Amino acid sequence: MEKIVLASNNEHKIKEFKEILKNFEIITMKEVGFYDDIVEDGTTFEENSEIKADAILKFLKSKNLNYMVMADDSGLCVNALNGAPGVYSARYANAHNDQANRNKLLENLKNAKDRSAYFMCVITLKKPDETKIVGKGKVDGIILEKETGNTSFGYDCLFYSNELKKCFGLCTDKEKNSVSHRGRAIQDLLSKLN
Ligand code: IMP
Repeated sequence: MEKIVLASNNEHKIKEFKEILKNFEIITMKEVGFYDDIVEDGTTFEENSEIKADAILKFLKSKNLNYMVMADDSGLCVNALNGAPGVYSARYANAHNDQANRNKLLENLKNAKDRSAYFMCVITLKKPDETKIVGKGKVDGIILEKETGNTSFGYDCLFYSNELKKCFGLCTDKEKNSVSHRGRAIQDLLSKLN
């Protein structure tokens, strides 16, 4: 099985990727000994995903490891907030405090009539020879007024999927993967891989 190093330490994401990419051996950054912080200072999802992929690829090369690298960057874009939190989704209110981020989102949408939003995901895959393949995925929905369901990942419990007619916070992994931005970005990438 071909190996892919996944540029993420987020357990939820690692689980989602492993479930969708069953034909590859997914290796985490920890498993290859990469512990550095990557500064994601791009202004688009695509730039940030490439920054992450390049950082790991450079590390793997220094260890003579010829694995492919996959890095995603994703976030929630809310139309009434001109696309915010966007690339800043993970640190909207407070770095990596999902509850604080959700509270800020609800506060900022208090008087909004339009609560439409979408999750976006861009995945960059880099091969050892630096060939780059990019996959993109999007899922449309609405920001609920109250948290719904018990999943605590990011904005899931505030995002009502138009297609599933259900909040992501109430979905099984399989349901969410069938429409999710990440699921779609992976499928887009896989269709370009061969
Ligand atoms: P990243 O790890 O830099 O891609 O940050 C993405 C951030 O966007 C996460 O920390 C979440 O706050 C949010 N996010 C991305 N995808 C999802 C999802 O599928 N559900 C809920 N929140 C998400």
